[in-house]
Amino acid sequence: MTMPRAVIFGIDGADWLLLDPLLSEGALPHLMALRARSAFANLTCTWPAHTAPGWASLLTARYPGRHGVYQFFSTQEADYGARITTSAELGPDTVFDWLGARGWTSGIVNVPMTHPPRRVLGYQITWPLANTLRFSDPPELLGELARTGAHFKSDLACMYRGDLAYVEEAIRNVEDRKRSVLRLLATRPTDAVMVVVTELDRVAHHYWHFSDPGHPAWTAEGASLYRDAIRRTCIAIDAMLGAVVAAAPDAVVVVVSDHGMGPGFEDLSVNRWLEETGFLATKPRGEAPDGSAASWFRDGEREIDWDRTRAYCPVPGSSAINVNLRGPCVDSGDCGEGGACVEGRCVAGPGTPGGLGERCVEGPDCSSGVCGADGDDHFCTEACTPGVGGVCPSDFSCRAAEDGSGVCWPKAGGCCGVAGGAATPIPWAAATPLVLGLLGMLALGRRRRG
Ligand SMILES: [Zn+2]
Repeated sequence: MTMPRAVIFGIDGADWLLLDPLLSEGALPHLMALRARSAFANLTCTWPAHTAPGWASLLTARYPGRHGVYQFFSTQEADYGARITTSAELGPDTVFDWLGARGWTSGIVNVPMTHPPRRVLGYQITWPLANTLRFSDPPELLGELARTGAHFKSDLACMYRGDLAYVEEAIRNVEDRKRSVLRLLATRPTDAVMVVVTELDRVAHHYWHFSDPGHPAWTAEGASLYRDAIRRTCIAIDAMLGAVVAAAPDAVVVVVSDHGMGPGFEDLSVNRWLEETGFLATKPRGEAPDGSAASWFRDGEREIDWDRTRAYCPVPGSSAINVNLRGPCVDSGDCGEGGACVEGRCVAGPGTPGGLGERCVEGPDCSSGVCGADGDDHFCTEACTPGVGGVCPSDFSCRAAEDGSGVCWPKAGGCCGVAGGAATPIPWAAATPLVLGLLGMLALGRRRRG
């Protein structure tokens, strides 16, 4: 059997609703021929229906709740910044890791969410979300392709930027990818090959309305120029599929997509709605905004006032409302009955189920999801920054755990029955040797991710 043994051909943004009319008119002969001798079906899309969780789920066989990739940006940063999601998020357990463990080599080309490249048995050209010239492993791969005239460019280098001539570039890009993949199939044979073509997603986003007379943005002039944009892109992708299948005669071929596309008739500004309902507050944009403070509003003049915001929709490209767990509190008195203030955020406090300082056995017993252990003492903890004063409620101190994080831990005699429930509060100086002696033993049992 010649290599490759398996080909996964991904078409971003394609579903049968979009492809069926083109198949019926005979515009996609290679997909048609493949379908005629294969099984095919509608797959259930991830929620949210988005490129990032879609491909991440395909690579890991996990729901987004498990792998944690919901969009192109991580929205869980302490400073609310938009850190780009990286391949590290996928964990060490992707399909390529499974194949590698069985001795299969893989060639991975342009698969979303795979940047930066990780060690795989085989080679990778990743899908960077930031401008970089280092998106292959081995690094010399891109130069190798350039020298053969394949001209592989990252998606980011050929994004739609408001110029409708883009469709020509997109089709050229599909042809360049085709040359690159054919070249790689010939020069670097691997057991499995996965390639994703992302141009259809882009073109459908920006040209759909030209082919849909029922769409409010349709114009006769636009239609005369761009009515065929999606169709032509699909035809280019079909030609690429045909060439790849022909170059892999013994392979099992899987054609798969991450989501479909469809017309959008309305825009909903989630943040404006949250502002109108009182969950989100804004303030004039600061003089020198850091990355996280770039305006999320069309007027560009405002930024979110985090001290007064309970819920927000991180942008760009977010599909979920996030709850602001930080702030606003100065001390536990700000957090109402049963609440405690930890580093400016209100959390469940002592005396509430799963609250800070309550006895626990494992992470799920605690509202924070973290059950700390020190010898026989097991308490629900909250994250804090060690070495900073006043970050924990008064009966607690911020101690370093064995993994380097900090947690609010009951002071001896302060509450929660530490040190035999000493009735007399032990002065901090007296407690210090005890705490230091136990530092290395504080172990955290966390809630499993997802
Ligand atoms: Zn997509």
